[in-house]
Amino acid sequence: MKRILNEDTVKKVGEKVSVCGWVDSIRAHGKILFLDLRDRSGVLQIVVNPKEINNAEDLRGEWVVEVVGEVKERPENMINQEIVTGKVEMKAEAIKILNQAETPPLHVAGDGKEINEEVRMKYRYIDIRRRRMQRNLRKRHEAAHFFRKFLTKKGFIEVETPNLTKSTPEGARDFLVPSRKQPGAFYALPQSPQQYKQLLMVGGVERYFQFARCFRDEDIRADRQAEFTQLDMEMSFVEREDVLDLVEEMFIKVVEEVFPDKKIKEKPFPRISHEKAMKKWGSDRPDLRDNEDELAFAFVVDFPMFEKFEKGFRAEHHPFTKPDASIDEIKKNPEKISAFQYDLVLNGEEIGGGSIRSHDPDILEAVFEVLGHEKEEIRAKFGHLLDAFKYGVPPHGGIAFGFERFLMVLLDEENIREVMAFPKTGDGRGLMMGTPSKNIEKDQLKELHINVLEDDEE
Ligand code: ASP
Repeated sequence: MKRILNEDTVKKVGEKVSVCGWVDSIRAHGKILFLDLRDRSGVLQIVVNPKEINNAEDLRGEWVVEVVGEVKERPENMINQEIVTGKVEMKAEAIKILNQAETPPLHVAGDGKEINEEVRMKYRYIDIRRRRMQRNLRKRHEAAHFFRKFLTKKGFIEVETPNLTKSTPEGARDFLVPSRKQPGAFYALPQSPQQYKQLLMVGGVERYFQFARCFRDEDIRADRQAEFTQLDMEMSFVEREDVLDLVEEMFIKVVEEVFPDKKIKEKPFPRISHEKAMKKWGSDRPDLRDNEDELAFAFVVDFPMFEKFEKGFRAEHHPFTKPDASIDEIKKNPEKISAFQYDLVLNGEEIGGGSIRSHDPDILEAVFEVLGHEKEEIRAKFGHLLDAFKYGVPPHGGIAFGFERFLMVLLDEENIREVMAFPKTGDGRGLMMGTPSKNIEKDQLKELHINVLEDDEE
């Protein structure tokens, strides 16, 4: 018999069907057993008479079973509004054990917040059976699907860019990958696809997006992971308002379609200058909510181009951002100039940031100089971009969103680990697989031209 989903049993009253899943719970009630069967669509209550079904009393939580039986309407007073199948139950006629399970090291009922998180991460494949995690993964998919549909309708195409690449400055440390074929040479994993997406604009793509995996070797916090996903975008022939209008429409619609229970506080989203945000709220990502249940989106605009630190200047966003100044002013008064940078803020979290880019190679070079790069260094690091900009570059700009941070706010989670299938601990360990691993063959290291220092040699 072909298996159906638990949620579809409500349409099959009076019929004999087959369902499959995990034993969520099993409890004796007088002479009969109540088995709650869990599959990806929800839970179904199954009534089992141990006299009719062999070994029914052996069944334990998390065993994987197939049950064949008749779907029956529940009496009015037994209806359970909490579950999708609450109006029906099944009377078991046969139970086939597909797989037995040991007693799991953590329970799957409830939201799991009281369980030690290291245990949850070590046994993630069990943890993601819980309803909250199933919902988070499903909503993550629905949001990604929505963004893909929306951007496709607006003329964007998704283009994948390399993960084995060269360092791009986004302000964090790079993860390096040794090259076997080029002794002593390393790739860097991308902190973002920033340069590639700009090169796609030189390539005439005009409207690009990508769900891009980004890698930043920095200390992990509640809203950060070493490896995370950005919804990354770039557009040609646009000004700041074109980008912001599109982003605003996209976020209003994703909330309406995927998170319809949520209410946006203010539309259009307020646009606040960086200066005002700092003066009034003391933060460049102000939380503008009046009460807890709202979604308070805002754009923060007109950031300073540079930030002064002990050794000189740093780009507030990144060096590819267009300064609102001439070459002379950039060189003379770096601390005074502002930039065409914008952030999207939601409930006090920065969920996205981007800018209109410098497409004039002379301006780019002036910015690199303020940042303290020597001429040869600029050539070595960014020669490809400066060269590309000699061959017909359209004015362009873009933005990237931290996909997990957005989901964390929309799903009322306090940590981005809760919206990722396989996250890492605060110190960058993957507990389930045991990563990173020292278990590397000597030969493999040799092939990579790597000599690992002992602790006391470092
Ligand atoms: N690459 C930038 C970032 O990751 C976003 C952008 O400028 O589009 O923050």
